[in-house]
Amino acid sequence: MKSVIENDQYNIGHICSRQQVERGLGGETAFRWISAKHERAEYSFADLDRESSKFANVLKGLGFAPGEILFTFLPKTPEQFFVFLGTLKLQVICGTLFSNFGDDALLDRLGDARAKGVVTRKSLLKKLLRVRDRLPALRYVIVIDIDEHQSADILSYAKLMGQASSDFVALLTPPDTPSVLHYTSGSTGKPKGVLHAHRAVLHLTQTSREVFNLLDSDLFWCTADQGWVTGTSYGIIGPWSLGVTQLHYGGAYDARVWFDLIQNEGVTVWYSAPTALRMLMREPAELFRGYDLKALRHIFSVGEPLNPEVITWGRSVLRHDIYDTWFQTETGGIMIANRPGLAIRPGSMGTPVAGAEPAILADDGTPLGPDQQGSLCLKRGWPAMFSTFLNNPSAYASKFRGDWYATGDTAIRDADGYYWFKGRSDDVINTSGHLISPFEVESALLEVEEVAESGVIGAPDELLYEKIVAFVCLHKQFTWSRELEVKIRVHVGNRASSLATPQEIIVVSSIPKNKSGKIMRRVLKARYLGQDAGDLSTMEE
Ligand code: AMP
Repeated sequence: MKSVIENDQYNIGHICSRQQVERGLGGETAFRWISAKHERAEYSFADLDRESSKFANVLKGLGFAPGEILFTFLPKTPEQFFVFLGTLKLQVICGTLFSNFGDDALLDRLGDARAKGVVTRKSLLKKLLRVRDRLPALRYVIVIDIDEHQSADILSYAKLMGQASSDFVALLTPPDTPSVLHYTSGSTGKPKGVLHAHRAVLHLTQTSREVFNLLDSDLFWCTADQGWVTGTSYGIIGPWSLGVTQLHYGGAYDARVWFDLIQNEGVTVWYSAPTALRMLMREPAELFRGYDLKALRHIFSVGEPLNPEVITWGRSVLRHDIYDTWFQTETGGIMIANRPGLAIRPGSMGTPVAGAEPAILADDGTPLGPDQQGSLCLKRGWPAMFSTFLNNPSAYASKFRGDWYATGDTAIRDADGYYWFKGRSDDVINTSGHLISPFEVESALLEVEEVAESGVIGAPDELLYEKIVAFVCLHKQFTWSRELEVKIRVHVGNRASSLATPQEIIVVSSIPKNKSGKIMRRVLKARYLGQDAGDLSTMEE
């Protein structure tokens, strides 16, 4: 495979745009944009290069320097891609925020990162302005859909871009230069900023070839939002580093619309998630029989375990294999995967990609043999490995035992080298492929006047993989009502995100805690599932 690195230039912004123009792909479509209202536009690699260069000059003109941090807080929209690549061209770090984040979620992330700028849209500006006075480092808010600057620091994207030059030459970017920032949820404390480096492009190019089998002629559709690692690693970087055309659709899930897009646009490689596939499975099979899916070469999935029933459904209804892939924010790119040419073992995540060295280790670090369950670890050193947790080197160090990075997942490896996901070794909840911190939900619940204590767990769910179940204990003077339930749900959505809103709220008289006051979620979960809670010796009576 031809390396994407030329003259030691690792700059992702450069590689995904200018380099493609220099390869002669300037006139080729980089992405086909279809809005939620089904307006269409095509952007070539030359467009991508010009617009991202202009944005790099915008940031430069505002005094941004390499290593400073800019976030996007946008739904899927063409500007997202220009901003992302332009920011990286200038070696400014680009963080991406999911557009459904509520006030607390925004504040935690922008505050921790000491972000200097945010690019957003009018409809999201109000949210940002509500927390702005608690973000002293935030200098500029750039709004993509206002024509005029609102003040010295709330600026119109169109106006800034209209005045910017498209001449920009990305300075030489060594491999370890910081690039992309995503926040990830743990089971305790605030979300941690996972910082990536420009070298990640090597891994993303390689896996786009090795796993997705991408060809120059492909139309690749990654349904993930750019607020998450899949949306940046494979909804931007991997395919564009290879000059492959992408489809970007700004609307929400809808079985018919999605399959119209796949058929009518001629999607050839499709990367989606188990929850979406399970939703599709609920549709009558006849719906899919009406589609001509001849152009579609491969379907891939990521984010949660892919149940064997989905693979069976894919084979019988779509007449396609569905390949499960595994990675996480910290790994930056796919590490374990099923892929064309490798026999699928339904329920398995597949085998390691080139350059990935996983192992199953016991708690004391001893390597475990075939079919033994333990901690899924990765030998450090793959190119997309995160560089650190921003402002939290001790949390970063705690993830490693010698050369082994502990992913937080438990798994087994069978005798033939296939890996099988078993669960998380912490309390983090995976709901429809999104990791939710129970701590964040518990904190939001405690802000509700009526709530005295809270404990949050993930419980198995047929559609979402895990649903969020909240246990609340009310202050004595309050009683439970339907109105209170709605109030709690709305509050969690506004403070954390719509994804964090509990599916079930259960009122209890007390929350089990250990002697140091820590919520014993394991006990809550066992009670919810009607199982034995195990050793309770550390529990507070
Ligand atoms: P995130 O960092 O938010 O992308 O979430 C990564 C986590 O999602 C992993 O550590 C796993 O727990 C889970 N995950 C991702 N892909 C898979 C998969 N194919 N099978 C099972 N779990 C997965």
